[in-house]
Order: sequence, then C-alpha cells, then structure tokens
Amino acid sequence: MVLSSVLGFPRIGANREVKKAVEAYWAGKLSADELTKAAADVKKASWTSLKERGVNLIPSGDFTLYDHVLDHSAAFNVIPKRYLGKGLSPLDVYFAMGRGRQADGVDVPASEMKKWFDSNYHFVVPEFSEETEFKLNFNKALEEYREAKDLGIETRPVVLGPVTFLALGKPAKEARAGFQPISLLPQLIPVYKQLLAALKDAGAESVQIDEPILVLDSAALYEKQFAQAYAELAPVSPKLVLTTYYGRLDSNLSFVAKLPVAGLHIDLDRAPGQLDEVIAAVKPTNLILSLGVVSGRNIWKTDFQAALKLGQKALEALGKDRVIIASSSSLLHTPKDWFAFALEKASEISVIAAALSGSQDAKVAEAVEANKVSIAKRREFERNSDATVRNRVAAITPDMLERKSPFSVRKEIQQKQLNLPKFPTTTIGSFPQTKEIRQARAKLNKGELSQEEYEKFIEKEIENVVRFQERIGLDLLVHGEPERNDMVQYFGEQLEGFVFTQNGWVQSYGSRYVRPPIIVSDVSRPKPMTIRWSSYAQSLTSKPMKGMLTGPVTILNWSFPRADISRELQCKQLALALRDEVVDLEKAGIKAVQVDEPALREGLPLRKADWDAYLSWALPSFKIATAGVTDALQTHSHFCYSDFDDIFPSIQALDADVISIEASKSDMKLLNTFKHYGYSNQIGPGVYDIHSPRVPSEEEIKERLAAMLAILPGELLFVNPDCGLKTRGWKETEASLVNLVNAARWARQSY
Ligand code: GLN
Ligand code: ZN
Repeated sequence: MVLSSVLGFPRIGANREVKKAVEAYWAGKLSADELTKAAADVKKASWTSLKERGVNLIPSGDFTLYDHVLDHSAAFNVIPKRYLGKGLSPLDVYFAMGRGRQADGVDVPASEMKKWFDSNYHFVVPEFSEETEFKLNFNKALEEYREAKDLGIETRPVVLGPVTFLALGKPAKEARAGFQPISLLPQLIPVYKQLLAALKDAGAESVQIDEPILVLDSAALYEKQFAQAYAELAPVSPKLVLTTYYGRLDSNLSFVAKLPVAGLHIDLDRAPGQLDEVIAAVKPTNLILSLGVVSGRNIWKTDFQAALKLGQKALEALGKDRVIIASSSSLLHTPKDWFAFALEKASEISVIAAALSGSQDAKVAEAVEANKVSIAKRREFERNSDATVRNRVAAITPDMLERKSPFSVRKEIQQKQLNLPKFPTTTIGSFPQTKEIRQARAKLNKGELSQEEYEKFIEKEIENVVRFQERIGLDLLVHGEPERNDMVQYFGEQLEGFVFTQNGWVQSYGSRYVRPPIIVSDVSRPKPMTIRWSSYAQSLTSKPMKGMLTGPVTILNWSFPRADISRELQCKQLALALRDEVVDLEKAGIKAVQVDEPALREGLPLRKADWDAYLSWALPSFKIATAGVTDALQTHSHFCYSDFDDIFPSIQALDADVISIEASKSDMKLLNTFKHYGYSNQIGPGVYDIHSPRVPSEEEIKERLAAMLAILPGELLFVNPDCGLKTRGWKETEASLVNLVNAARWARQSY
C-alpha cells in the first residue's frame, strides 16, 4: 500500500494558543507546568486531526515552544556559556538563548537568528567550539513519541540530522580561528546513536531524519561526513527516512542514493524535475521513495491529476510498497485552516495515496473528481487578466529603472534640502505597536470604533511619536507606522489582486506570527496608500519626515504568490504600483522615502546556478519602484540581515541613496563585507539589536560606531537601530534611542 505522510505540522495551535501561553509565561502569568500543559493540548489536537484525516505517518518531535533548531541545540547541550551559571532554570536558559534576558541582574543578549533556508521562518543559530560537549540533556523526539503513544497515536519521530545541525551552526566566539563546526561530527555521532537507539527501544518503527542541507550546493563538501554519520547511525536506529526539502538534490544524489538508510524524501513541489533521475538512482537499491507532492510552502489546492501522474511514475518503477505520498516539506509554513491549509493538505495527501493504492472507496473517487472540477474553475479564473496592468508591465523601458543623475550629484542636492548633520540619526520606521494600538484596530474591525474615531486615534499616536523623536533629538523622523497591522498585509489590503485570511497565522520566529496575504489576480493600486499619514506626520514638524513603504520583492516573498503566472510578472506589477506611490509621496512634499526589502535575500534561490535568473527581475523591480522621482528625493532601503557576502554587489546595484542593514544582531560581521567590497552610497549598519528588550548602553553603541568608522568613510554613515521597533515596549525604546542619539553626538565630536 502507498502510505501517506506529513513531514511536520504548524506548532502554533489553531488559535495561536502557543503564542498566548509562551508570552503569558514570559510575563510571569503562567507557570512552567501550565505552559507544558498548553503545549500538550496543541500537540494532541494536531496528532488527532492528522489521524482523523487518514495520514499514516504522523510526525512527532516537530513541536516547539520557540524554534525547533533551538530545541535541538538545548537537547544536545549546545548552550553558549554566557547563558549558564546565572541561576536560570533549563526552560529559562532556553528562552534566554532565543530572545535574550534582561531581568533580576541577568543581562544576556539573544543568540543570532537566521532565515531558515529560503523561507520567512527564522531559526536560532547554534554555536560550536572545540569546547562543545555534546550530551543528551533530554530526548524531545522520544518524549513526544511517547506522549502521542499514550494517546493511542503511533507517530514517526522527526529529528534534525547531524550534518545539517553542524552545517547550519557557526563557530562560537571562543573557538579557535579556522574552527569548523563540522569537525565535531565524530563527537556528535555517539549522542545521536543514543537518541535513535532509545527511539528504537520505545518501539518507533521509522524516524524522519531531516537533512535539508542536501538541497544546497555546499552539501557536496560533506559527502564523506554523510557516509560516516549514516554508516554509524543506521545499524542502531529505527528505519531512517532521509528527508530533503525546499529544492533539488542535483549532483548530491550520487552519494545520497548510496547511504545506508531505508528511505529518501524529495521535494517535488519545488523541484518536480528531479523525479526521473531520483527514480533511476534509487531503483537498483532498496530505498523507499517519499514523494513530496503536496506543497508545504504554498496554499493552493494540489492539482491531483499532476500529483497522481508523478506518483504513478514512481509506482511503476518501484512498486507500491516503496512509495510514500507526502507533503513537500513540513507544513509549518502554511496556516492551519482555510483554503488548502495544513489540515486540507493532510486530507489531500491521504486521498492521493489512497488513489495510487487503487482504493475502491467511493469517497476517494469523489474527492479526485471534486478536485478536478475545482482546479478547472481556478484555471478559468486565472485566464481573466487585467489588460491595463499587463500592458503597463510589457511597456517598461530601461530608462524607467535609473535615477536621473549619479549618486554623487544627488547627494549634494538632497543634502541641501534635508540639511542633516554628520552621522544623521534615524530609525527604521515602526515604533512600539502597543496594546492600545492593536485594540483600536480590533475595535475598528468590529465596528466599535468609527473610521473617523480610529483615524483621530492614529493621528494622536503619530503626533506622540513625532514629539518623542523631536524631544530626544533624532534627525530624520518617521511617523511610526501605527496604522499598519503588518508591513505586507497593510499594502496588500489596499492593492487590487490580494485576499486575506482571518486566522491564517504562520510562525515567523519565536512567538511572532504573520498572516501572509494571498495574491489571486493581477495587482494594481486603485488609490494612494500612505500619503495621508506621511503628510500628516510631516505637517507636525519642521524636521524631515521619511515616507515608508514595503518593496515589491518583499511583498511578493511574504505573500502566497499565484501559481499560474511567474513571480517575475507578479513582482513587476507590484513595482509599478509602488512606483506611483513613491512619486505621489514626493509630490506631497516628502523628501525621503524608504522602501524596505528585508526579504530580497530570503528569496534568493538555494542553488547558486539559479541566482541570476532571480536577480534579473528582483533588482529591476526595486529600481522600477524607486527611480520615478527627481534627484532631490532621498531613497532609503532597509535589509534585515547581514549575510551579504555574495550579494553585496547586487545591493549596490539597487542604487538607493541610503541603505540600512542589520549589523548588531550578527556581531557586526558584515563589516568584513564592506572591507571587501567598499560601499559607494550612504549606509546605516544597525547599532543595536532590536529583537530583544535589552537596552544597549551608550558605551556599547560608541564601540560599534568606532568599529564601523574604522572601515566606512564618515560622510556615508547613518546611525540607526538594526530594524523597526514595533515589537518593543516604549520603555526600552526610549532608553535605547536616547543612548543612540548620545553616541551619535559623541561621534560628531570625535570624528
Ligand atoms: N519599516 C519596517 C519597520 O520598521 C521594516 C521592518 C522590517 O524590515 N522587517 O517595522
Ligand atoms: Zn529589518
């Protein structure tokens, strides 16, 4: 029989129960036991519904209170020293690693976070050194396996594989120069053996061992390590299903097919083209092939006919018992309900598996037929396009991508009208989204507040933010974004072509969730989106006010895109809509406009061979959006990451007048990038990490400025935090920004 399998499930609860419980625990309103209980309820609900939907291989061990990679680090005792010896419970050490801690005399920053492959999920980066002593602090996979078993549900435990674990990590500060985490593999394997053997003892028949690193070019370097690790693990483990996702195996397939594992999972949503070569490679072996035909990354209904065709092909080559039908990746990236969300996907997987097994169940035939009708309807809808939008994209000319004059000329003109001091201080846009702001929005949505009352409230918020910035002496002001529920959703709601969900939350990091909009048809801007608030904010002050927009690439990457037309076409439609907005902002008297592109890098394909194809439309899209204005408008862009090693030339090519980037969260390592490439336009590497409530001292900020000034020309430097402040409270925001302004004043005296 063809089995069905789900690789992982949303861990947030159907109604964000996990977020609520975790945040209540942080606030001291929930005990550790109550937190555990809340988590158990969510796990139980997930397992039960997967079982009800007929999924054969149900995942366990994929749940988390914060991040599954962080769980794994904590379990394997990969805990940086700075979190230990402070009298914290293991649970509080865990949360301190994730989000920092500044209370009761303990003051430690959060660990670095990085985007998980090419998704908008963030994981906490493990830190390794020669002193890392692996041991099993707890066996999460085993505990959850038993937890499900006690409920009468047999599951397949999910474990992050050893090579991916090490490869995703970074050398700790205390590691010797040149230290490579992968060198620790021999010490790590015995602990994996212990973990896997315990699962076998407990009765687990198979284990899903995730090695997503295998879809990257860099995995080729680890051929030997893969061979070594799996030769040692396989004999003591339950059947191992080596699991890859988000891309194709490519040349790594040659060694993967030889590993002594029981099964291999491949992603046929992202890389359907790899099926033939994978079948050819596994045919002579005994490997079971798990086909990821139901997307873990998008929300569109699966086209059963297409999925069945792929399944049939594998079936003919390998036989029923060697084929599993699965989600392409964990469903953690999809919301739990509505559309073809996580639960519907689980049903889709069971139906496809049943149909392939030759099931005579009338329900299966009905479901296949209903799917055919629904997909045909959708295709019909997709054929209706907005001719005006399509024609406008087709008419884009190269000159629309370039500013009128080069940066050196623009800089003079802009300086005249902005009149900023040396080392100008600014922020990235948002100020704390307080409970009051969220409540006002909720009341507006429920009709308890009229549009007029709501707008009065927002005006008051903007005024407070403006007065605050004037009072502490910031130079280039922002309006604070109180009117925005989310930097992508806010624009999606005002653009033609988007739809939204009520409860379609997806985890971004820790207890932060987002509700990605869904692009369903051609995108256009029926009317200005931000002018009202930006001009109001500017009217309050004589200091310059920065307009604030989300860029086309980021709106695309943080939405669920359509599956019928290219991402390029969708991005250019967005770019034109934003271009009109930037032009309108300038007309309204705004002198600086920031177009955020924090997701530009995240969208970069996992394989280097595919980069140029992506950049060839992503970079022009940003330029289309920002180049419609006169030389006098100062364009800013913002990027929430620091891994610029390979794409820095692309960032330069955007030709924004000022860019701001995350620097502090990642130990200022991007300064090396500047050393290497130099930078021609103005730049604000963040001087403090905003992901944690911790207040940076003035000294700390000065040190960072000094380090930057050792590398960057002083006349190019802006002083700003790493990112927007919407997730912070006012208390720490105020204290941090006062320190930032003082540090900039000090720099003006000293440099
Ligand atoms: N302007 C946005 C803000 O300040 C940028 C957020 C981001 O880059 N993720 O919140
Ligand atoms: Zn940011």
